[in-house]
Amino acid sequence: MEKTEEPKALNVLTIRCPICGNKTLQIKETEYYIPYLGKALLVSRYCSSCHYRKSEIVPLEPKRHQRIYVRISSEDDLKVKIVRTSTTSIEIPEHGIYIYPGIDAPFFITNVEGILQRFYDAARRIAILSQNKEERIASMLFLEKIDRLRNDPSPFTLILDDPAGLAKVIGSKKLKFILVEDVEGD
Ligand SMILES: [Zn+2]
Repeated sequence: MEKTEEPKALNVLTIRCPICGNKTLQIKETEYYIPYLGKALLVSRYCSSCHYRKSEIVPLEPKRHQRIYVRISSEDDLKVKIVRTSTTSIEIPEHGIYIYPGIDAPFFITNVEGILQRFYDAARRIAILSQNKEERIASMLFLEKIDRLRNDPSPFTLILDDPAGLAKVIGSKKLKFILVEDVEGD
């Protein structure tokens, strides 16, 4: 069922900016409803002096820690839609790929191809911009892994691990194999 709640502005405050040091960083908190995520808090920061900008989405209706296993074995499977939140880790064990939360957007809906592309782009930016040699080598290796994955037609397992239990696979009817596991503890 679709809820159509109006966004609610909750708080606005101005603090010292961590980037430029001026007391011109405005923080706005807005509560709103996001499909698939439920009620969420949008926290946006903007500094009018140095134009530093950052925003994050904090889900307000977290569920139980879940791991979702998806078997990707055809080109159609690559089109399956995924909801990924800022707390979701992504693992592709066959290719040694582990992506932890926080290296990209806070919340997005994409397909498996799109996820691979996002990580490829992020790693490529790091490889180009990094001054740190180890970091650059690590991101080059990561790029190779993603390339291998795209050119290798053999099936692989995609695991979405979300402590907040909000990650989802949408339109998964065609998938041959999917397992959702509740994680105890944590
Ligand atoms: Zn600033």
